[in-house]
Amino acid sequence: MSGVLVIAESRRGELREVSLELISAALGVKDDAGGRLAVAAIGAGAAQHADALGADGVDEVLTVDASTEHFEPHVHGAALETLIEQEQPTLVLLGHTIDSLGFGPAVAARHGLGFASDVTRLAWDEGPVATRGGYGGKVEVELDFPERECVLLMLRAGAFAAAEGSGGAAARAVEVQAEPRTEHLGFRDVETGDVDITKADFLLSIGRGIEDKDALPQFEELADKMGATLSVSRPLVDAGWMPNARQVGQSGKTVKPKVYLALGISGAVQHLAGMQTAETIIAVNTDPEAPIFSVAHYGVVADLFDVADELAEQFE
Ligand SMILES: Cc1cc2nc3c(=O)[nH]c(=O)nc-3n(C[C@H](O)[C@H](O)[C@H](O)COP(=O)(O)OP(=O)(O)OC[C@H]3O[C@@H](n4cnc5c(N)ncnc54)[C@H](O)[C@@H]3O)c2cc1C
Repeated sequence: MSGVLVIAESRRGELREVSLELISAALGVKDDAGGRLAVAAIGAGAAQHADALGADGVDEVLTVDASTEHFEPHVHGAALETLIEQEQPTLVLLGHTIDSLGFGPAVAARHGLGFASDVTRLAWDEGPVATRGGYGGKVEVELDFPERECVLLMLRAGAFAAAEGSGGAAARAVEVQAEPRTEHLGFRDVETGDVDITKADFLLSIGRGIEDKDALPQFEELADKMGATLSVSRPLVDAGWMPNARQVGQSGKTVKPKVYLALGISGAVQHLAGMQTAETIIAVNTDPEAPIFSVAHYGVVADLFDVADELAEQFE
């Protein structure tokens, strides 16, 4: 086949949201890539995800019912190699996740595929064009792969909208011979801090514009009043004012709330990387040239403290 091959992810039997995001990214380039989209689920009980992965526009769901119950890099790597050999895709999409980092880059290197990790945008210009950060996130770079017949890209979770609908794509089982080489001992949950900002529908996000740690309680109260969750830009975490779990951006969390209200945040690329897919972005900044206004749906050039006082009064 030419076309796109998506590798879905599941953990503890649950399909991960990134799988549907990969499908939606694939749909955006499917026609240019050769017109066919296959989505593969790998692991014990892979077939149970076939319906959920058969989103509108998916042509076929491939299930690799590998012997391991949990993620195993050698089994996943062998499955990916088999799928690439059988399906001959032009483009392979994986999530830029801990699991996929365990086998995706190795397979790309072994097979001489074009490769980019942590991709935040995907386009097509006679071949895939991947956007990702460069120079420690200071610039965005666009990569193309003119010499490669097949390109493997790892897409950042949360950077693409999730695909919807069920087109009822046919499912096909694929046999893979691979033995696990590691033993799964158990899961230990990561501490998410007091709150998970990635799940919030409404984020009130504050930046260096608040200037003083003593101003924090005012915004914690405002967030409470408005029914919002408080998040921050990195300087507030670096200063030790707020925990890392509240940080939005490239080295923090990628968030996708219905509403993102940014007070006193300039909109550096590293911050935008974590919030630009929010449904509605409202920015308040005294500087009319602040880059945050380039992604904001509504912009207010004003002192954030005046706006905060007014909001507190309105929500009283
Ligand atoms: C490798 C790397 C990773 C990074 N990761 C992240 C990350 O994950 N998240 C992140 O946020 N940053 C990250 N950064 C830092 C990033 O480059 C910026 O420095 C940071 O986002 C700036 O935060 P800020 O917008 O709050 O502060 P500033 O850039 O200082 O902006 C403050 C803004 O507040 C406005 N302002 C000031 N006073 C008021 C007022 N009274 N009313 C209204 N507006 C006012 C100003 O006009 C200004 O636009 C990273 C940097 C690097 C190099």
